[in-house]
Amino acid sequence: MEFAYDSRTVELRDKLSEFMDSHIYPAEAVFERELAGLDNRWAWDSSPTLHRLRGEARRRGLRNLFLPGENGAGLTNLQYAPLAEIAGRSPHLAPAVLNCAAPDTGNMEVLSLFGTPEQKARWLQPLLAGEIRSSFAMTEPEVASSDATNISTSIQRDGDDFVINGRKWWITGAMNPNAKIFIVMGKTEPDAERHRQQSMVLVPRDTPGVRVERAMHLLGYDDHEHGGHAELFFDEVRVPAANIISAEGDGFAIAQARLGPGRIHHCMRSIGLAERAPQLLCARADARVAFGKALSEQGVIRNWIAESRVKIDQLRLLTLKAAWNMDVNGNKAAHSDIQAIKIATPATVQWILDKAIQTHGAGGL
Ligand SMILES: Cc1cc2nc3c(=O)[nH]c(=O)nc-3n(C[C@H](O)[C@H](O)[C@H](O)COP(=O)(O)OP(=O)(O)OC[C@H]3O[C@@H](n4cnc5c(N)ncnc54)[C@H](O)[C@@H]3O)c2cc1C
Repeated sequence: MEFAYDSRTVELRDKLSEFMDSHIYPAEAVFERELAGLDNRWAWDSSPTLHRLRGEARRRGLRNLFLPGENGAGLTNLQYAPLAEIAGRSPHLAPAVLNCAAPDTGNMEVLSLFGTPEQKARWLQPLLAGEIRSSFAMTEPEVASSDATNISTSIQRDGDDFVINGRKWWITGAMNPNAKIFIVMGKTEPDAERHRQQSMVLVPRDTPGVRVERAMHLLGYDDHEHGGHAELFFDEVRVPAANIISAEGDGFAIAQARLGPGRIHHCMRSIGLAERAPQLLCARADARVAFGKALSEQGVIRNWIAESRVKIDQLRLLTLKAAWNMDVNGNKAAHSDIQAIKIATPATVQWILDKAIQTHGAGGL
């Protein structure tokens, strides 16, 4: 068993860490101010800071690290995971700057794996260049969408076109006017075997019949990050048959392929965020004096710090094991490991963030 990162990973980690220190962290507050001042609050691609930093990341060869194969950096999951973690320390800014933000990452993977040369030229290339953004429209209010076989949006063949009718919600990024392309999942063959009924089609945002109904609120907040989450209607939306991804009936398999790596990315970014929390916690606990001594000298706080350290290391090992399993045995074989990190990471990171919030008192909120 080898626990050390390989030389390529070490080199990229050093480069990325330096970029975070010199460019990302110092720009965070400016970026938030720019977002707050936007005329269209969803159009966060128009932030000058984001634009400037994307250029710098491109010059340094730090973009699209998430994407395996010839279209991307060609890293394995195990090589990319520690880089996603570093980006996750600044979750609003760094993934967007590095063109490694959800949901575009998953969409680019789909296009890279299953797109035709025409689809790649029209949609993947501008996505890789960071010129446009995209959304993945699967979930529906009317059906339990954790079981993707339930998806009921109709995609019907009509001559050289597909006609789409349906309603989606929680579609991340779709409020952003620069999300120019939606990957829409629906049913082309309702009578086929359960896992062969679904297909995915590419629907340009400006197609007649596509309606962005409203933004969803997340625990009462407008979630600006990555262009919000939208409710969408598709009303007699007509796209060329060439917009199908792979073939009719392949939609379920594509959805499975898309979600595996995405979970690793989410978990590693969350672990990065969790790493930052104890740093802030420690600084605050050293600086704040209550009842005659620094908070950092209180046993409870010291216990939180120690537990946070141990929990983060546990999570990272579990997530890296899942990444390794995906690389060596494939996404399907790694299914249980992927489920495990999905259970462990949000709950544990939430615990760690809560302790950092508590240590900051009311300021933590
Ligand atoms: C912030 C956010 C962003 C999102 N972004 C996107 C996006 O970009 N695109 C997109 O298509 N969707 C997106 N979603 C939707 C998300 O993928 C779905 O909410 C999720 O798949 C669950 O589907 P559902 O809401 O229909 O819940 P349901 O399927 O109705 O499930 C309800 C509950 O039942 C549980 N459950 C299901 N099966 C079982 C079982 N066998 N045993 C026990 N419990 C079970 C589920 O875990 C869930 O807790 C997003 C959601 C959120 C909150």
